[in-house]
Amino acid sequence: MKALEEVKATQAERAQDYVKSLYEQVVERNPNEVEFQQAVKEVLDSLIPVLVKNPTYIKQAVVERIIEPERLISFRVPWVDDEGNVKVNRGFRVQFNSAIGPYKGGLRFHPSVNASIIKFLGFEQIFKNSLTGQPIGAGKGGSDFDPKGKSDMEIMRFCQSFMTELSKHIGPDTDVPAGDIGVGAREIGYLFGQYKKLKGAYEAGVLTGKGLGYGGSLGRKEATGYGTVYFVEEMLKDKGLSFKDSTVVVSGSGNVSIYAMEKAMELGAKVIACSDSSGYVFDPNGIDLDLVKRLKEEENKRIYEYVKERPKARFEVGCAGIWSIPCDIALPCATQNEIDQEAAETLISNGIKAIGEGANMPSSQEAIDTFLENKVLFAPAKAANAGGVAVSALEMAQNSSRVAWTKEEVNEKLQSIMKDIYRKTTEASEEYGESENLVLGANIAGFVKVADAMIEQGVI
Ligand code: GLU
Repeated sequence: MKALEEVKATQAERAQDYVKSLYEQVVERNPNEVEFQQAVKEVLDSLIPVLVKNPTYIKQAVVERIIEPERLISFRVPWVDDEGNVKVNRGFRVQFNSAIGPYKGGLRFHPSVNASIIKFLGFEQIFKNSLTGQPIGAGKGGSDFDPKGKSDMEIMRFCQSFMTELSKHIGPDTDVPAGDIGVGAREIGYLFGQYKKLKGAYEAGVLTGKGLGYGGSLGRKEATGYGTVYFVEEMLKDKGLSFKDSTVVVSGSGNVSIYAMEKAMELGAKVIACSDSSGYVFDPNGIDLDLVKRLKEEENKRIYEYVKERPKARFEVGCAGIWSIPCDIALPCATQNEIDQEAAETLISNGIKAIGEGANMPSSQEAIDTFLENKVLFAPAKAANAGGVAVSALEMAQNSSRVAWTKEEVNEKLQSIMKDIYRKTTEASEEYGESENLVLGANIAGFVKVADAMIEQGVI
């Protein structure tokens, strides 16, 4: 008996050392890419118990293979602004993993975009896409182009130039981009138009998040936000809680945030704050979602305009302060690392019960550790925000079979996918001994499917 325990301890030590050396290698090979290093570290730490149980993964170097993108494309994007000046941005596409399907993942247009951001997003996409149960591999792309303040024609010219290069690398069976921060239906339209012109063929499934008139799916726009709330509702239900009568703070006011607020309200929650990169609005009577939709979806305005029409609401400059508002449930739906340890501690001292990550990697590692140590229910991004890409996969399925499903059909499928992700995540957490740690469960459940597919396909 003692001998067995010793063997187990040695195996655990070996797995820990292995993971540590892999992480050191990642830091050395990807210097200065802090977001990518952060995303890899979180997954590597989760995988230790899996590696102890299945040493084949070590023997087959699956983790080493998974952390190295299959391909990283970087390209020049020259375009002409309205004054006739030539501008140059940098474009990226990371094709991270194609073990279970064509590369799939959004495009982000934001000045902060660089190789590290694209690689962290592409890496997370491997596990997220796997969790959806849909046949999609992982990719991500974007540019450091800043869409803020640009005219419609400038956006169009930029998208056309971006696609002129990107079109060489994508296709409905190879790589299927979609939107992310700064890329919505308008940009997808311009990108699709240029792709179609270059290919001389109507390949509807090359992009998702398309307009409803040319191959888009009903329910795609709402999918990420709704999906996050469906996932959190499952997690709450397990503890005898629910969104009903709870107070909710949702950061952001883009696509994910707006539809997370909508679904939370539908389930009986009171949403009292949202934000954009200029600051946040706190509306103690409950956010007027129609107003947010008009300002953001129609008028392209900043969130501070909200208080002009809602005198009882307050606007505060800066984003971090939103986490000082006492609430039962927080849904970070803006961007990476928006909740640091200090914000996590403030949320906890104000009595937070649950966190649902709608954005990608919105909590820093220290914040996650703080939530878990304090037994806050925590729905990690890879699982909780997978609804968007899941419905993208449904859009691909509709495009392939040249049909269009009703909104109800899509929503029903989304709901069952989110329930399934919750089940897989909790089962993996339980199997590996930490039933309350859904970060561990999501990473493990996402990993195993991809790792097994890679092994079955040989040394690829
Ligand atoms: N950008 C979204 C994500 O982070 C959606 C990607 C997609 O639909 O392909 O998952």
